[in-house]
Parts: sequence; structure tokens; C-alpha cells
Amino acid sequence: MTDRPALVWLRHDLRLDDNPALAAARKTGAPVIPVFIMDESIDHAPGAASRWWLHHSLASLGEDLDMLGSKLVLRRGEAAKLIPALVEETKAAHIFWNRRYHQAHIEIDKTLKSDLCDDGVNVETFNGNLLREPWELKTGSGGYYKVFTPFWKALKQAKPARADTEAKPRKIETPKSFPRSDKLKDWDLLPTKPDWAKGFEEIWTPGETGARARLRDFLNDVIDDYKNGRDRPDKDYTSRLSPHLSFGEISPLTIWQATHAKMSDGDISDSAGDKFLSELAWRDFSYNLLFHNKELPEKPLREEFANYPWRTDKKGLKAWQKGLTGYPIVDAGMRQLWRTGWMHNRVRMIVASFLIKDLLLHWRKGEDWFWDTLVDADLANNAASWQWVAGCGADAAPYFRIFNPVTQGEKFDPDGNYVREFVPELKEMPAKHIHAPWKAPDDVLDKAGVKLGKSYPEPILDHAAARKRALEGYDKIKK
Ligand code: FAD
Repeated sequence: MTDRPALVWLRHDLRLDDNPALAAARKTGAPVIPVFIMDESIDHAPGAASRWWLHHSLASLGEDLDMLGSKLVLRRGEAAKLIPALVEETKAAHIFWNRRYHQAHIEIDKTLKSDLCDDGVNVETFNGNLLREPWELKTGSGGYYKVFTPFWKALKQAKPARADTEAKPRKIETPKSFPRSDKLKDWDLLPTKPDWAKGFEEIWTPGETGARARLRDFLNDVIDDYKNGRDRPDKDYTSRLSPHLSFGEISPLTIWQATHAKMSDGDISDSAGDKFLSELAWRDFSYNLLFHNKELPEKPLREEFANYPWRTDKKGLKAWQKGLTGYPIVDAGMRQLWRTGWMHNRVRMIVASFLIKDLLLHWRKGEDWFWDTLVDADLANNAASWQWVAGCGADAAPYFRIFNPVTQGEKFDPDGNYVREFVPELKEMPAKHIHAPWKAPDDVLDKAGVKLGKSYPEPILDHAAARKRALEGYDKIKK
């Protein structure tokens, strides 16, 4: 045993349970110093809603560490400089971290690792955030998977790389003194004027305890409805684990194992567990795409889409962002996003299709807005999903599949309750007309207190005409 400490550099793994980097640090027997660096100089620094989550997640992790007699050291600035400085300041003999997968971030980590190793520091890195790392699963011809179904088959067969989760520590060795830490509140991660995140607090509990509780509740009470109900935004039939996963408050392996344990005990059916885990695997699939395509967040995977005749339409973009398009299911989704920092997956697809194929705006406009407003904003999932809806990604929805916002609303929000929750102007509309209020007879609108163009907008475009325009654009680039 040595007095020279082991640093644990936490990034997208804000948890104590099943954290391979932390477990490795503890195994050295050296005093452990957990560190988080707020690095806004890197590509894709967190957006506004993620900063809200990050504040609370770090506060929660700090409290959990305090309870074990340890401490979270916070520093703000360029990690490429601050990490070597901290190693020097603390005379650390080791540093451990869980890997990240965007090439720009990998480059930073690689350089750091090689410089620190040259200085005689023991540097070890781990897979803490994926079921399988992007280079592990290969197609028959040795390439990476570009289609989800065979990827999922291969993942199921290979199983997660780590056979077991790492136990949550009961004790963490502490150094004689911890290095100086910034105060979290001085980082100003929370919105103040105005405080637009009030609605977030009502539904989210950032941090490891909140993540665990959500998984437990989902596996105990909800998963049976998941397979058939996961497309219903008016119901609470999905796990809502996405922000917890984005910040690494729970590991995918923990979720995998807990789900399998329920399946083995016969508490849930194999088909329910399998469906849920296959959705979880989309996350690994997105990381596999990001790792192998460093420009995934910026450039279409299908090159012909670089020439698509996108429009500019500031008014249309604003109407979409504010949930004032006059299409109720689109507006409900965009307002759910604004109010809660999250949106149901089915509605994400509908609003994304509306932006790209009805408004004919570049998918990156939507990707950027989601990045800033989602509490689960995740570089791989966000980029891969926007490219999927745009039809320019791997295994993407064909471009000509254009969602009709009215029929989608009628199918997936049949009673109109989702719209009523987020678009209160339409609260009194009967289900029959709620997804197309402009087609409702005058007496129905009067009775519901809806004045189109005044209390709720007229549709900002005609879907049938917009659809035709989108397909004409596609004809121009089709190979
Ligand atoms: P559940 O259905 O309970 O699924 C469990 C977990 O599996 C999720 O938390 C998520 O980590 C993963 N998952 C489920 N569906 C997908 C999917 N289609 N792609 C990738 N992973 C999936 N997800 C993000 O985590 N961050 C994003 O920034 C993001 N942006 C998106 C943008 C668009 C345009 C679309 C269409 C989808 C986006 N998604 C994103 C994927 C998906 O909508 C969310 O992961 C899901 O809605 C989260 O809710 P949940 O946790 O209740 O999901």
C-alpha cells in the first residue's frame, strides 16, 4: 500500500454502483480521489437542460461520497490541462476512467493517457457505459454493424462484456487531505432568470438513488405494458431511464442484469424483458455508429443527403420550437419537451418528421434544439435518431415514410389526453376532433372555447402539400 493516491476521473458515469473505474481505484488500496471536470472547451459541451441535470446529479454524487467519508473534487476548465495538473498536485500514482466514444473525446483521452504513462503514472481505462464496446461486435465480413436487427442478434448472443456488476462500495479510502474543490453553486449550472426548470423538479430525481428507484418501479409495475404500450404518449409505459443513462447514474449492465433476474424468476415474461432490452440495445447501436463515424452529429451518413434542398424558415422553426404549429400532437410534444426536459419516443419521431419533412428544415436544426432542451441529450442517441428520421442515417426510416401528424395523433393518443395535458387551449375539445381542430364544426369549436387563429393557431402549413414538396426534394437527390 502506498500513500500516493489514485484519481478517478468521472465523466458520463456519475455513480458509485457498478463503476469499474472506481472499483479499480479501490482495488489498489491507495487513497481515492474522485474528480469531475467541467470542461466547456470540448465539442458538444452540455446544453441548458443537461446543465440543470448535471448540477443535481453532481450534488447527489457529492452527498453519496460524503456519506462514505470521501469527497467529490470539482474543477472547471480544460481537462487536458487540469488532469495532469491534478496528478502532479496530488502526486497520484494511478488514474482510472471509464471510456467515452466520440473521436474528439477519444483523442483527448489518448493523448492524456500516453503523456501520463510517460510520466510513470499508472493509467487504466474501462467500459462502464455500454453493454459491448463499438469495436467488439463485428459482422461476418469484419466490419461494424450498420443494421440494427443483426446487431441486436449478435449482442444477445455475445452477452455483455462484463459478466458481473461491480459492487457498490461501503467504504472508500481517503487521502490525508483532499485537493481544493470548486463550489458547485459557483458553476451557475441552474437557470435563474427565468427559472424555466421548475417543471423538471416535479418529475425527475437526478442521481443514483433516483435512477435505482425508476428501474425498480419500472420492472415491478410497468414492464408488462411496455411491449404493447410503449408507443402511447398518453400513458406512462416506458422506463424514463434515459437521463439517468445519459449521465451514467445507472449502468446498462445493471439494467440488463436486473431485467434478466426478473425473467429468470418468472416475474416478467421473456418477451417483455426481451423487448425492453432490445430498446436498450439501440443505445449501444448508436454508440457503435458514433464511434465508427466521427461526423455523425454533423454529416449525413448517406452522402446524397448533403445536397438536399433544405429551406430556411425562421418563423416556422420558432413555431415548431414553441409548440405553435397548429398540429396538436406536434405542439404537445414540443411543449412536453419545454416543460419537462423530455419527450415520449413516438412523439420525438413525429415532431422530427414534421421539422424535416413538413417544414423542410435541416435535421441539424432539430438536433441542436433537442441538445439544448432535453435532459437526456446524448450525443450518440440524438445524432443517430435525427439521421434515422431524416432517412439519411444507418438503418434509417425510408425518406418517403412521412408521418401524418393527424393520423399519428389519432392512433397513438386516441382519447386526446396527451394533447390535453400539454396544450390546455384544447382541453375541452372532444377526442374526435382534437387532432385536427381546423376540421371541427364551428359549434364544436365554440363549445370547447377554441378560437382558431386566436386561442390556438391555424395549421402553419398544409400537410398534404408539404409532403408532396418533400418527396420532390427527395427525387432531386435520389441516386
Ligand atoms: P425506454 O423505452 O424505456 O428505453 C430504455 C432505454 O433504452 C432508454 O432510456 C434509452 O437509453 C434506450 N433507448 C430506447 N429507445 C432508443 C432509441 N430509439 N435510440 C437509442 N436509445 C434508445 N435518446 C436519448 O437517450 N438521448 C437523446 O438525445 C435522444 N434523442 C432522440 C431524438 C430523436 C429525434 C428521436 C426520435 C429519439 C431520440 N432518443 C434519444 C431516443 C429515444 O426517444 C429515447 O431514448 C427514449 O424516448 C427515452 O425514454 P425512456 O427512457 O422511457 O425509453
